[in-house]
Amino acid sequence: MIILDGKKYRDELLERYKETISKEKLSLGLSIILIGNNSASEVYVKNKVKYSTYVGINTQIHRLSEDVTLQEVLKLIDKLNSDSSINGIILQSPVPHHIDFDSCIAAISPKKDVDGISASNIFSLYQNKKTILPCTVKGIIKLLEHYNIDIEGKNITIIGRSEIVGKPLALALNNRNATVTLCHSKTKNIKDITSKADILISAVGKANFITNDMVKEGFIGIDVGINHINGRLYGDFNYEEVKDLASYITPVPGGVGPMTIAMIIDNLIELKRME
Ligand code: NAP
Repeated sequence: MIILDGKKYRDELLERYKETISKEKLSLGLSIILIGNNSASEVYVKNKVKYSTYVGINTQIHRLSEDVTLQEVLKLIDKLNSDSSINGIILQSPVPHHIDFDSCIAAISPKKDVDGISASNIFSLYQNKKTILPCTVKGIIKLLEHYNIDIEGKNITIIGRSEIVGKPLALALNNRNATVTLCHSKTKNIKDITSKADILISAVGKANFITNDMVKEGFIGIDVGINHINGRLYGDFNYEEVKDLASYITPVPGGVGPMTIAMIIDNLIELKRME
């Protein structure tokens, strides 16, 4: 069994991005909008700032209070859209209930959509045209490519159909000629489906969801899940149970998560080159 070491690959990529930015004298600016006091968001934003600053991106956080109005958020996005020193805008989710996340994303210029979630980027993905991929999707594909794992012709089962992971991932893998099955909470006989998968990707958010009777021998396992239990981090796989059946597997932590963060930088460089 080979561990798909996202953390190691992220570190290699960071060095590569740092060199590219310095050699090509790329002037890059990233703005992160953080609303309210969500402790998980604080950690994510801290890491985004840490790695993007490390590679030489001018990164700023715009902290807005919990009671900010939608108009105020849209006004800030508008200002950042027209600021030529800013190449990427992230609206950290979740946002408070009274803020319509979709309206805010729609307001972000697709040219600064570093998360790859704007309607025009998603439509390009739908049409199999060049696009900025959502970071987790791109991170998974890059990790598979890094380990020379072919996507074409593979039976890939994804569990979870979120707009940020499952759905765009299904499209992106289909665009790369995989045969994709997208499962969700209403899927019947899920074990019959997962146990036929060459590559099994879980984005459910339930610890120990994938057990040894759900996988086939030699499967490639990609665990997107992030589950905090008693201060420890777990994925969706019952790792101890399934690891010996896998040919390749991502650990949690240290698999998909680090790749997701690295892809923010990857996307930002791509956006800059498309200017
Ligand atoms: P989500 O919005 O939390 O939705 C969960 C998905 O799992 C839904 O599509 C749901 O089906 C499906 N599901 C729930 N119970 C199920 C069951 N018993 N059988 C089959 N499917 C079931 O999805 P998400 O935002 O993609 O997050 C999923 C997990 O990935 C979370 O743990 C999240 O923290 C993690 N995540 C990690 C990264 C990373 O970089 N590592 C990035 C993003 C998310 P329905 O649609 O039918 O409700």
